[in-house]
Amino acid sequence: MVESTRIVLASRPVGAPTPENFRTETVELPGPGEGEVLLRTLYLSLDPYMRGRMSSAKSYAEPVEIGGVMVGATVAEVLESRDPSVAKGGVVLAYSGWQTHDVAPARSLRALDPAKAPVSTALGVLGMPGFTAYAGLSKIGRPRPGETLVVAAATGPVGSAVGQIAKIKGARTVGIAGGPRKVAYLNELGFDVALDHRAPDFADQLAAAVPGGIDVYFENVGGAVADAVYPLLNTYARVPVCGLIADYNVSGVQEGPDRLPAFYGRILTKSLTVRGFIQTEFVRELYPDFLREMGEWVADGRVRYREDVVHGLAAAPEAFIGMLEGRNFGKVVVKVAD
Ligand code: NDP
Repeated sequence: MVESTRIVLASRPVGAPTPENFRTETVELPGPGEGEVLLRTLYLSLDPYMRGRMSSAKSYAEPVEIGGVMVGATVAEVLESRDPSVAKGGVVLAYSGWQTHDVAPARSLRALDPAKAPVSTALGVLGMPGFTAYAGLSKIGRPRPGETLVVAAATGPVGSAVGQIAKIKGARTVGIAGGPRKVAYLNELGFDVALDHRAPDFADQLAAAVPGGIDVYFENVGGAVADAVYPLLNTYARVPVCGLIADYNVSGVQEGPDRLPAFYGRILTKSLTVRGFIQTEFVRELYPDFLREMGEWVADGRVRYREDVVHGLAAAPEAFIGMLEGRNFGKVVVKVAD
């Protein structure tokens, strides 16, 4: 028997999540059965999609049940293995959620090589968020040399990878982030233009920054940023719709004028491609290419990344709430154990 501390969903948020929506419990885990392993979580990934799982609204994945462990990708050490394919003492990518220990089927794990890259990168630049950027650009955005690409949440794991991959492909890149510290970092990362979406004249700054219009808008946020971008899209522009974080904490329908006719009008008259995607759609086709190419780019420094490391499982709810408000600076990982 091993004790596992875990954070469960105590209640569903209305609007922004609060600490009261989470509860910490300790349970005793049985030992692993045949084909299973006992895991000790080293790192837990916090990602915006978890806000959707806290809600009961119908979506592409089932919600977390009330009282259920919050879901999430983890990097874990194998404490005990009852499967010949997974070695005791190894480090693996798992999906254990917000808990210190887990018993998982061996076949659900991917072995990580700590000599190749810091293991936490399997949750960020060399994991799901990096893959999201890679797949959304390869299949939908398709930036060409000389084209202009715009992306917001650009210091985060998806946005920063989008900007840097687009640069490798020869595009001119405009990164958007909240606040001067993040904007300064975008310049460090090599974005051609870095803008603060909180500036009162943000829409004018964006228009001035793209004299030739926008060919690819990698949609991470929606909201006011999207409002500023859409009038600037060129004919045949591509919009991979990846995330709409500006609206994740909005419950119900917002009051306001109906902007849908204007939106569809633009799609029609500019021959836009607006294509939503969930990264899992492309895993089978592109994941090996991603691991190879992105692995090379990270190793040779052409793609850089930043982690926002939070210490201890107990800090996860506050860090998650903060991420939805932009208080994170880089990929949020919770260091659960050494
Ligand atoms: P980040 O680490 O970038 O964190 C979210 C960031 O969003 C915040 O730091 C904040 O950055 C920005 N943000 C929050 N509210 C607003 C707002 N109102 N306007 C503009 N920016 C805002 O997250 P990720 O890189 O992990 O994810 C980025 C997006 O990609 C999310 O929408 C996520 O849901 C989506 N996603 C989609 C996937 C898919 O398969 N379709 C898979 C993975 C992620 P700042 O302070 O700079 O504004």
